[in-house]
Amino acid sequence: MLRAMAERTLEVFLDTVNACNLKCVTCAFSDPRVAALPKYTMPWELYEKVARQVFPQAEYLTLSCLTEPLMNPKFARYLRFAGEFEVPRMEFVTNAQLLRDEHLQACVDARLWRIAISLDGGDAISYETVRRGASWDRLLVNTAHAQDFFARAPHQPILRVIITLVQDNFRSAVEAVRRALQWGAGEVELRETLTFPGIGLQARQLKHHGDELRSVLLECKALCDAAAVSVLILSENAPGLKVDLSGVPPCHALERRVAIAANGDVMPCMLWAREPLGNLRDSSFDQVWNGSWRARLRDQFRRERPLLWCPTCTICKDDPADDDAYFRLLAKPRPLGPFA
Ligand code: SF4
Ligand code: SF4
Repeated sequence: MLRAMAERTLEVFLDTVNACNLKCVTCAFSDPRVAALPKYTMPWELYEKVARQVFPQAEYLTLSCLTEPLMNPKFARYLRFAGEFEVPRMEFVTNAQLLRDEHLQACVDARLWRIAISLDGGDAISYETVRRGASWDRLLVNTAHAQDFFARAPHQPILRVIITLVQDNFRSAVEAVRRALQWGAGEVELRETLTFPGIGLQARQLKHHGDELRSVLLECKALCDAAAVSVLILSENAPGLKVDLSGVPPCHALERRVAIAANGDVMPCMLWAREPLGNLRDSSFDQVWNGSWRARLRDQFRRERPLLWCPTCTICKDDPADDDAYFRLLAKPRPLGPFA
């Protein structure tokens, strides 16, 4: 086993691909320009370097953030290797459309802490309207198989179900929560989306449905409470359920949070649209993390104290009116070796 020598303080968000199999209406992948971007996987040598230098310092690690991890054809190998570093809380988020036995077995081998499955709808129409390109039937088959697989395995990750809400699906959220509970979810998360102005998401948001949204969310919460399942509601529009910004702590990106894109760029978080802190292709993580750009940004964070509530964040962009930042995050160029 490759045991940690350093103190584990970091929350690490890592994408090993720049691609997704879907074009969800809530996501930058629905931008038509994405189809023309070359798809790539973080090369194994670069991944191995990231793993050896960063994972021993991680208290939390997610192997996906902005993209679909199962688009990495070797994801099972990447996951199993991550498991060797024994990060206390390791997870990945997936749409589950490509979930196969090799991934499930790697979850068991790596003793994955949590697997998060996106369930944006409680019926075929709502789900497939939001999750463009996904099949409701395949989701049901794959999740039933995963349930059965984990029930027979010596290790079961916690199941977190994420339900993202827009006008097209929020009325089916109660059914979605029922489904999540049938799957044996340990945690349910209901959230309105971040805004991606470039894909017309504002027109789908729930600004004018606050009261109806509130009653849906309360019913969802009651179901979870009755099943003693933890529920997290991240709402911007439901009266009485909106996130109370006075209770949100300052953002700890740059202190404990770090994001690494599939091309090796190191950033304070995965929504970071400014210059990266550095790239791991030819620098070590220590060089990047202790470099002058991070030091200058830390000064700015200390001055401005942005809240850890990403929908209102302006520090992550050079220009708060920059509508194209999310596309540029997906369009980072392929990393070319050799990797120092
Ligand atoms: S929300 Fe997730 S599954 Fe949907 S397009 Fe974006 S990365 Fe893919
Ligand atoms: S608040 Fe801003 S800097 Fe902090 S994690 Fe969110 S988007 Fe990133």
